[in-house]
Amino acid sequence: MSLMTALGIVTVFCIMFIGIVITVLWFVHSSSKIESQKELKKRKMDIIDSHFTEMVRIECPYCLAIYSSNTSECPTCGANAKKILFPEMHG
Ligand SMILES: [Zn+2]
Repeated sequence: MSLMTALGIVTVFCIMFIGIVITVLWFVHSSSKIESQKELKKRKMDIIDSHFTEMVRIECPYCLAIYSSNTSECPTCGANAKKILFPEMHG
């Protein structure tokens, strides 16, 4: 067992340690990036969803009254059977 061998082992361990640290830092960095992208996407979806809810209209199959999807039952006859009218996305 020479000093060179011992130094070699220490060097290898140092390189391994640095490698692990870099990997962990890279992983944390990339996962936080993914997390913020997820957050952004979620926020976008929330905005789209709220707009969509406002735009969607429900047609009552009994009295044909058209009302907002925020309302759970027909304001005219009280029926809660829903027929969703999707908004026209073009134009
Ligand atoms: Zn109705």
